[in-house]
Amino acid sequence: MRTNIPSFRLPGSVLDEEIDMILDMGVEVRYSHPIDSLKKLLDEDGFDAVFVGTGAPKGKELRIPGREEGGANIHIGIDWLESVHFEHTDSIGERVLIIGVGNTAMDCCRTSKRIGGKDVRVVARKGRPHFKASSWELDDAEEELIEIVENHSPTRFVIEDGRLDILRMIQRREVAITEVLDAAQRKDLNMIAGGKPLTKPLWDTVEAWTPKPRPGRRAQNPQTIRRYKTSFTQLRNTPTLKETATVGDLTRVDWVQLDQEWGQSPADWNHLRAAVSKFLSDQVGMHDPVRRQMMESFPKRPEVERVPDISVELFWKIVNHTPEHVRASYVVLAHLGLDTGEYLELTKDHLKPHTFSIEAPGTKTDARYGTLRVDPRMWEWIERGVPSKVQYGWLRKHWKRGLAAAGADTTLRLKDLRHCPAQWATDEGTPGVKIQAFMRHTNQRMTDRYRRQKDRGEVAAAIADAMLRSA
Ligand SMILES: Cc1cc2nc3c(=O)[nH]c(=O)nc-3n(C[C@H](O)[C@H](O)[C@H](O)COP(=O)(O)OP(=O)(O)OC[C@H]3O[C@@H](n4cnc5c(N)ncnc54)[C@H](O)[C@@H]3O)c2cc1C
Repeated sequence: MRTNIPSFRLPGSVLDEEIDMILDMGVEVRYSHPIDSLKKLLDEDGFDAVFVGTGAPKGKELRIPGREEGGANIHIGIDWLESVHFEHTDSIGERVLIIGVGNTAMDCCRTSKRIGGKDVRVVARKGRPHFKASSWELDDAEEELIEIVENHSPTRFVIEDGRLDILRMIQRREVAITEVLDAAQRKDLNMIAGGKPLTKPLWDTVEAWTPKPRPGRRAQNPQTIRRYKTSFTQLRNTPTLKETATVGDLTRVDWVQLDQEWGQSPADWNHLRAAVSKFLSDQVGMHDPVRRQMMESFPKRPEVERVPDISVELFWKIVNHTPEHVRASYVVLAHLGLDTGEYLELTKDHLKPHTFSIEAPGTKTDARYGTLRVDPRMWEWIERGVPSKVQYGWLRKHWKRGLAAAGADTTLRLKDLRHCPAQWATDEGTPGVKIQAFMRHTNQRMTDRYRRQKDRGEVAAAIADAMLRSA
């Protein structure tokens, strides 16, 4: 415990105190006394019972290509923590990658941060629900701005110029991309559509996938791409498809059955449907009969329009119950109606202070979607809130705590803040078409719900007028 658990988490003095308590109970400790024969112990020392508590302090090797060549820069977590404890190691390079996401990984990444690591990331084979690390350990790591990358696993270590320059982990991703590019160059995408893609490993192919625009249409909206990726992550976190599944296995899923078990909202389900449809279209072609047949058996759920119960007054009350350093984040989200992921990507470089606008990340190629306008009176909040001081986990946690402290509905989600600007502007009388442009909604239907809410309010007011007049 002394040599593996970093002292910033378990100070030596605490350990000494605990050990002293045990010794005070009358336990005898024999130091520097390795046991090399149990028989000898039983025969000669006359104990009635022997408990073996020799621990299991060994890390697991990762024998993949490149391990030996990169040995000088690749370490087993437990051994490395021990060498930091004994001061054999007192520094590390700036870019550090930790493979695996158990509690040892959490200690390695936080220790790296303390001895020189700047860009420290942890990669996990699966999604968050499968992480071995305790949630509080993850929170502490994320609070220290350590990035946790989900659903990636290493296939080889890549050594360049005799040293480990980059660790490429993405499961056979290059191969998939090259295959597609080669085929595209040969104008032979039909070869890919000819059945081969159905035998490709599903999750590798999803990872490598960049959704293509439909012929004659503009590039995919980055928000839509992010939604596709989220949907596949949600699907991967269900037991429906194994890690070894192929693309073709998608066509064998019982979607009706999965619909019954799907724990997410109808909107999430429909996003999944759209993601699977687009993914298969890009793999085998939109008119592929297998894809079309599968989509027919993939039910669409009726969506209930979610209208979050957040008035402007309640919003400020919640925000005022959150810590100072995160308040501006909620204000930015509620002012601009950004998707949380999109907000977390914002940096100072995206801010345009002379025109009080923000260039939304990843949308530089599309002028219509590129620029968000901010009211000058709110600019100070934008400057304070961009970039976010915390990662998603803490943003969500402080929001939930704020809801509870403000006596608000604790099921209100962080992403519900997206609706705030549209509803508030509608209530202030702003025309729907302007709100649609501000919100970057691709069609008026997405914006109509806010007008409907306002209309309902006006009708309710008329009814109340009539009722109260003769009450
Ligand atoms: C990175 C890391 C972080 C951790 N963080 C926490 C934490 O925050 N909180 C927590 O509760 N737990 C934590 N743990 C787990 C904790 O360290 C272990 O659960 C605990 O140390 C197990 O105790 P143990 O007595 O079974 O084995 P160990 O602590 O491994 O002790 C085994 C002892 O047996 C001795 N031994 C081995 N072979 C012989 C032999 N032949 N003769 C004589 N002696 C021998 C060893 O020298 C050692 O002293 C962490 C573990 C790791 C690796």
